[in-house]
Amino acid sequence: MKLNQMVRNVYPKLMPYKCQLADLPVAEIERQLGISPIYKLSFNENPVGPSLKAKEAMMKELEVLNLYPSSTGDELQEKLAEREAVEKENIILSNGADEMIILIAQTFLNPGDEVVLPEVTFVQYLASTHQMDAVPVFAPMREDLGIDLDAILQKITEKTKLVFLCNPNNPTGKAIPLGEISAFLDQVPEHVLVVIDEAYHEYGVPGEYDSSVSLVKENKPVFVVRTFSKVYSLAAARVGYGIGSVEVVDAIHHVRPPFNVNSIAQAGALASLEDEEYLIQTLSLNQKGKEQLYTAFAELGLSFIKSNGNFVYVDTGKSSKEVFDSLAKKGIIVRDLSGYGLTTSLRISVGNEKANEALIEALKSMIKRVQITGGI
Ligand SMILES: *Cc1c(COP(=O)(O)O)cnc(C)c1O
Repeated sequence: MKLNQMVRNVYPKLMPYKCQLADLPVAEIERQLGISPIYKLSFNENPVGPSLKAKEAMMKELEVLNLYPSSTGDELQEKLAEREAVEKENIILSNGADEMIILIAQTFLNPGDEVVLPEVTFVQYLASTHQMDAVPVFAPMREDLGIDLDAILQKITEKTKLVFLCNPNNPTGKAIPLGEISAFLDQVPEHVLVVIDEAYHEYGVPGEYDSSVSLVKENKPVFVVRTFSKVYSLAAARVGYGIGSVEVVDAIHHVRPPFNVNSIAQAGALASLEDEEYLIQTLSLNQKGKEQLYTAFAELGLSFIKSNGNFVYVDTGKSSKEVFDSLAKKGIIVRDLSGYGLTTSLRISVGNEKANEALIEALKSMIKRVQITGGI
């Protein structure tokens, strides 16, 4: 069998499936490093864990695992539609936001089509573009690492089909003001769909971040992606969803595998939405954790970006590879951003107080305080 001649010609561009340390589950990191506990601050996972109501609802589903679930997840679609004040037909579920991104690519991209994306953003947009043998076109960031919508506009050509925006952006935590997005959409040509990934929607800082769902309602060419993996702690259950025009949602349904969200995940997501207290608890823990990190980074003289997510972008001024390795030796796993050319920057998930404390202590022992006063 000549496998290398049989696989699609895009294979050399696809992501390797073998995980690096930062991408492994905690138990495997513990095994490889021989250290316990491990503080995994590389995946923006919610340290709270799923809502009790979600866990109960998911347990109940075990009784009827012999039955196929609703293929489109009717009940969850309806609940989400009600919350977002759209129609059920504007909602489509996916096996995590990651699947939604690949479904969008499968729906719209032919080989050679162009996809415009910011240079520093979530990596799955690039992976899905390559998967379809489409051509990624990178737009430079603003100097403050914000997404530059003018630069994106300049990269749009006749061949462009999709633009991916991440708002708030991973890994910077920066939000794009809604007014900017709205003005941008007015200038985007008719053959382009703008996908806005709002994986961190619930964490958005009031006054800085607003959802683009309002723009879907205004019939602008936009599709919004969300997930239950972050604020609702259901990362392993795999539930995401999209909000768009009936036409766009309908087109994506054509490539969506049947039963792509299992019944346990649907039940967990539905129950999570009912648990307001859980949301408040998570957001308050995240807020405290962010402040804990901000205070420590400021004391250490490190520059960081105030985040609209559950992670913080920080520039340590030292090789991020080296800082990553030293932290890993202490069981603390963060995200090294040198792959983006940000060779001294890290993205650190906001953990619980203990995890944040462990990170701060480790950084303190590693980084000498930078004197801000010019010196005498
Ligand atoms: C975590 C994340 C996702 C993936 O979420 P899943 O629902 O777990 O697939 C998508 N987009 C962004 C920006 C993320 O950070």
